[in-house]
Amino acid sequence: MRDLTPVIDAVRQGAALCREVQAHYLTRSDKTGQEPVTIADYGAQAILCRALMRHFPADTVIAEESGAQFAQLVEPEQRAQIVTLVSRILNTTVTEADLIEWLDYGQTALPGPRTWLIDPVDGTKGFLAFRHYVTAVALLEDGQATAAVIGAPEYPGFEGGALFYAENGSAHLQLMNGGTARRIRVSDRSDMATLRALQSVEKSHVSHDRIGRVRALTGIPDALVGWADSQEKYARIANGDAELYLRLNRTTSTRPHYVWDHAPGTVLVQAAGGRVSDLDGAPLDFSQGRALPNSGVIATNGVIHAQMVAAVQTILATEGSA
Ligand code: AMP
Ligand code: MG
Repeated sequence: MRDLTPVIDAVRQGAALCREVQAHYLTRSDKTGQEPVTIADYGAQAILCRALMRHFPADTVIAEESGAQFAQLVEPEQRAQIVTLVSRILNTTVTEADLIEWLDYGQTALPGPRTWLIDPVDGTKGFLAFRHYVTAVALLEDGQATAAVIGAPEYPGFEGGALFYAENGSAHLQLMNGGTARRIRVSDRSDMATLRALQSVEKSHVSHDRIGRVRALTGIPDALVGWADSQEKYARIANGDAELYLRLNRTTSTRPHYVWDHAPGTVLVQAAGGRVSDLDGAPLDFSQGRALPNSGVIATNGVIHAQMVAAVQTILATEGSA
């Protein structure tokens, strides 16, 4: 835990900030491409980047949001609100210039030998709609994703939310409010009739039709599908609460997947004994910068992985010959 303690603390502070924003200051701005962003995204990223600057000054950081965007998109009144909130949560006086400096610490283009990937609020649309969201961080060492922390304030069944972390090939769950951490493992279900699949809530993010075709082919019941925003889906697989998370793009989509949206979840699922791959079964490559060079994602409890890769390939072949 030597490496992760400052990150876990910052993820907890980020969760506290998200709750405050949701309760009192919820407004959205829109980035290019209609993607929403809130002051919680900027506040949580600033807190995380500050912790990384202080504790790991030699490491690089790739994070979703930027200081320039913050200054450009967010109204002065909301910038002042987030400065006040971050000051209160960190228990120190923070200025807007500090926030912008910390945010821009995450603007590295290419990973170095040790690089942190940050999604301060993953599932911003869920956050805005009072559904689910997470704060997600992964560590890349020489291009390999080796550790992760995911704070899931709305994880079902946990008052105050759940915090997940993974390192050295083992995955753990702790209450967001603290207490003893325990090891978690994926479920061992393989009977398709009892399989719990997870899917993005947002219709624009994935092709619900294509994913439905994979379920129909394999006999996975629609009735057991769980809907959730964000990398909470990976956490649910790691914690044995589901077995499958498929991400097949809409055929018209040209938007890449980003490393911060999948590296933390991938580390967590793999450390809990599951598997995560591209649609052809190849590992995801997080070493190429902000965008992932992949065509989709298959995350499973491991037991069903080969069968799901085969099913996805069958559906892709059908589309190709249609
Ligand atoms: P999920 O709730 O699993 O769909 O994941 C949320 C993530 O979807 C966000 O962090 C975004 O990076 C990503 N996202 C946002 N807009 C799109 C889009 N149009 N297509 C695909 N992914 C998107
Ligand atoms: Mg995200």
